[in-house]
Amino acid sequence: MSIISNNLKRIKPSPTIAVTQKARELKAAGKDVVGLGAGEPDFDTPINVKNAAIKAIRVGDTKYTAVDGTPALKKAILKKFKRENKLNYKLNEITVGTGGKQVLYNTFMATLNKGDEVIIPAPFWVSYPDMVLLAGGKPKIVKCDEKDGFKITPAKLKAAITKRTKWIILNSPSNPTGSGYSKSEIQKLAKVLIKNKKVHILSDDIYEHVKYDNFKFFTIAQISKLKSRTLTMNGVSKSYAMTGWRIGYAAGPKEIISAIRKIQSQSTSNPSSISQAAAVEALNGKQDFIKKRAKSFKERRDFVVKSLNNIDGISCLKPNGAFYVFPNCKKLLNKRTKLKKDTDFVQKLLEKQNVAAVQGSAFGLDGYFRISYATSMAKLKIAMSRIKKFCEDLG
Ligand code: PLP
Repeated sequence: MSIISNNLKRIKPSPTIAVTQKARELKAAGKDVVGLGAGEPDFDTPINVKNAAIKAIRVGDTKYTAVDGTPALKKAILKKFKRENKLNYKLNEITVGTGGKQVLYNTFMATLNKGDEVIIPAPFWVSYPDMVLLAGGKPKIVKCDEKDGFKITPAKLKAAITKRTKWIILNSPSNPTGSGYSKSEIQKLAKVLIKNKKVHILSDDIYEHVKYDNFKFFTIAQISKLKSRTLTMNGVSKSYAMTGWRIGYAAGPKEIISAIRKIQSQSTSNPSSISQAAAVEALNGKQDFIKKRAKSFKERRDFVVKSLNNIDGISCLKPNGAFYVFPNCKKLLNKRTKLKKDTDFVQKLLEKQNVAAVQGSAFGLDGYFRISYATSMAKLKIAMSRIKKFCEDLG
């Protein structure tokens, strides 16, 4: 009899973390690897945020806090929702966790019964299906087309809903494609969901502040008929370059919020008190960091998209958010190149040119690969010329 639980057989380790780890190992072994696998901003956490954390340590904010967040942080989150999304919540409709990841995990644990379905548009963030599986639910993967900007259409959403559907996950701007849903696209999806009356919506807004070209961010809870069925998740990781601090949060129906609190009270308890103090400053303090950073992300996005589209066999949409591109490499998967799948493409790219990217199939869509351009322009220049060389050498 195995010591390991059967539950674990349902899931696999995160493929993006695996690629990052492999790149780290190769680097440690002396190889000159350019890692384009990690989903974190290369910018440092803003100084006002760091100072708030230092102050928290000095004044002794170093004890247990309320399980799902300090009143100060919850108030800062309420203000953020009001200021940026025109959404009004009460304190008991807010939860804070150890990263958005924990909030999502707890949500599925708190709401799914065996066989409950969760609609996950693909390409998706790698953790959604495995979290659903671990909680005993059934991921219902809906493949989205490149011609639709990799976004779910109202027709596809309608066709995917069954009696067992509990959640639909929307992630805009998206990891791994960078695609953001416009207000009118969300309104069209909302029509289907308003008619249906039962399905809950999990809106993962973690990339809200990484956007380009006047893209106007809109979140589905702003549609008043759906607010009572929507859990809006966000966090400080990507907006404020605070991935290591581990603070994520959500707003939504108080029944779900208190169920999440119950799980957290019996597992991790509160997120770090020091990180919470830092997140208060991130949300309440000056916001100029976001704009400054967006400018340099835009330069990188433009460079990467242009370089990829200059390579024979590769085509790449120009995304309006996040810091990923999701290029199409289908033309290079054939007998001539001896590459069958996108996994072969990224493996050979790493072996031959020391560039670490992640295969599209890890995100639920074959024939693509994901590049994170949250790295320096100098590294991106090297990576792009290596990818070009790799593709040319395929013959
Ligand atoms: N949602 C998406 C789409 C992400 O890409 C990530 C992180 O990569 C998260 C949620 C979780 O972020 P965190 O746990 O750092 O808040």
